[in-house]
Amino acid sequence: MRIAVPKEIKNNENRVALTPAGAQEFTKNGHQVFVQETAGLGSGFPDEAYQKAGATILPSIEETYSKGDMIMKVKEPIEEEYPLIQENHLLFTYFHFASNKPLTQAMINSKAICLAYETVEKEDKTLPLLIPMSEVAGRMSVQKGANYLEKPLGGRGILLGGVPGTLPAKVIILGGGIVGTQAAWMAAGLGADVIILDVSLSRMRYLSTVMPKNVKTMMSNEFNIRSLIPTADLIIGAVLIPGAKAPHLITRDMLKEMLPGTVLVDVAVDQGGCIETCTPTTHEDPTYTIDGVLHYCVANMPGAVPYTSTLALTNATLPYALELAQKGWKKACIKFPELSFGFNIIKGDIVYQAVADTFNLPH
Ligand code: NAD
Repeated sequence: MRIAVPKEIKNNENRVALTPAGAQEFTKNGHQVFVQETAGLGSGFPDEAYQKAGATILPSIEETYSKGDMIMKVKEPIEEEYPLIQENHLLFTYFHFASNKPLTQAMINSKAICLAYETVEKEDKTLPLLIPMSEVAGRMSVQKGANYLEKPLGGRGILLGGVPGTLPAKVIILGGGIVGTQAAWMAAGLGADVIILDVSLSRMRYLSTVMPKNVKTMMSNEFNIRSLIPTADLIIGAVLIPGAKAPHLITRDMLKEMLPGTVLVDVAVDQGGCIETCTPTTHEDPTYTIDGVLHYCVANMPGAVPYTSTLALTNATLPYALELAQKGWKKACIKFPELSFGFNIIKGDIVYQAVADTFNLPH
């Protein structure tokens, strides 16, 4: 198969869909790899590294698309890319169709096959191609929080782990899933006192067996949240209710109960946020303050660490991509049944119920 890797052209997107190591796996197995010039540069992978792995570097996005049977990307195609997508293409990338009608219509019109990272779903309901980005965002949330707790950046001026003779910072994590768990590890490792609130008892049982002693769990409800926030230094929002907007667990009136300089990092901002006063921000202008409480609400946190994010994402996508190249899109689902949930549009037909329902389109 011919695998093509265009350079991402969405604003501030530095990730790339294939690393030189991945390119080598393809070429070793007899496939051809075409990478657009400088596609890997933002993640730290120069063209020469791909060439060494047996890939061909192409100068333009047009040529790159035209050479591929399977197009591997990170973000959904944007308008300039729509005319480049042909009916022989298998597109393997994040699409998030439900929030983008023009994209959905363009992909229907293209007659290509659209395999969406975000809906590949295992039997246990986990989403293997979303997990790596939650891991990155979870770990990063503590790094960001610790940084913004510094006085010159608007925080309370408390060191997360304290020093001997001083109390460490108190970190409250709302939601103990992938993001929350990774955040807890990071905060605990720096010596903070950590409390994870979740509604799932079984999840909290699990967390209490694997977490260090400075991580406690507590049932998530308004009473408990209100009792904790007056002493919190850093609050991390990491709640997810699949398919729904995040509930507002921290409401506007609660800000007045917080210490001045408390930092809120709402990782769940991409699902509406679990903090009422949260509105999406960017890496260029990541924070704002309300009632003396600093908010960090960047919707694409992994974008700031493209080296790690690219490696984390491609570690997860490569086994699927290799099987797609080896066996074709139908037979690849025999080894990886979860792939079958990833198909959203096949040759002009919507085959994913939630996308069809969102736009009331025939399927
Ligand atoms: P997950 O499904 O692994 O975990 C969500 C957790 O929230 C679950 O343990 C669930 O029991 C818990 N929960 C549900 N309702 C709750 C409530 N009322 N109180 C407390 N906990 C509750 O999800 P995840 O992968 O950890 O993702 C969390 C959020 O982070 C999602 O909204 C995801 O889209 C977002 N995210 C954002 C970025 C970013 O860059 N901002 C990156 C990755 C993920």
